[in-house]
Amino acid sequence: AKEEGKNNFRLYDSTLNPNAEERMEIKNSLRYALDRQEFVIHYQPQIEVGSGQILGLEALIRWNHPKRGLVMPGSFISIAEETGLIVPIGEWVLRTVCAQSKAWQEAGLPPVRIAVNLSGRQFAQNQLAEHIQEILTDTGLDPTYLELEITESMAMQDKNWTTLEELRKMNITISIDDFGTHYSSLSYLKHLPVNKIKIDRSFVDGIAKDPKDEAIIMAMLLVARHLNLTILAEGVETAEQYLFLEHNQCDEIQGYFFYKPQPADHIPKILREHAPD
Ligand code: C2E
Ligand code: CA
Ligand code: CA
Ligand code: CA
Repeated sequence: AKEEGKNNFRLYDSTLNPNAEERMEIKNSLRYALDRQEFVIHYQPQIEVGSGQILGLEALIRWNHPKRGLVMPGSFISIAEETGLIVPIGEWVLRTVCAQSKAWQEAGLPPVRIAVNLSGRQFAQNQLAEHIQEILTDTGLDPTYLELEITESMAMQDKNWTTLEELRKMNITISIDDFGTHYSSLSYLKHLPVNKIKIDRSFVDGIAKDPKDEAIIMAMLLVARHLNLTILAEGVETAEQYLFLEHNQCDEIQGYFFYKPQPADHIPKILREHAPD
């Protein structure tokens, strides 16, 4: 019977594609990653078009896996969302980033805003605003230096609107990430306490290649200007893209053309040289 069980298992196992197997392995080791302190945050500067000064940093999580090396969020965030682990992981990110930012300020570096990605699951939590208030109080970070990036789909759900209002009342900046990638009505921008939109890299990629992408970007810039929203373009990789965005009066840019996401210990030198005092 034992032998049979083994064979059955093998049979079942062989129907799994390597992807599913890998996901399973990630799922298992992800559970211990927080306790084992395997996560690290990298920071990518956000630059003011024109002045070239750094106005903010986006915090991006990486997983320092004992066997796989540095694992990118694309390989584990969706699994963390499925399992609910994103809630404690997201809280760790917020706490780490707020403490880091406060430490940089106390070391005398020019203060810049730090943007943190929130997942839908985190947003749906009860008392998110209270949680964040607690983190701000514990770390001593001024809320004007915290920015939360949410997706269009999170922004459009009316069940999230009271939380958004609470966060705005706390003077936290709210931005819409990956703007334009979902079919959505623009009317939510009119009702919501949002400060900033981030043009998705998929549009920026088309600059100087696809006039339709350029047209969409110009429309987004126009909407943002008329609604008094700050607008940032993501994934800027070339001088041509940068010049197009500068010419069309985009406020801020983020991308490999200026900086890749950097480990925390590279940030002090970068801020000292390129952030406004
Ligand atoms: P995102 O929020 O859209 O972040 C931007 C992604 O684009 C980052 O990938 C960044 O490294 C990459 N990027 C920046 N500039 C360029 C460029 O010029 N060219 C190209 N090709 N890529 C560029 P990353 O770090 O792998 O993160 C992927 C996604 O994982 C993020 O997309 C975000 O949705 C998610 N993520 C990252 N950190 C967190 C986190 O702490 N919490 C949650 N919930 N999600 C996170
Ligand atoms: Ca983001
Ligand atoms: Ca994005
Ligand atoms: Ca994205």
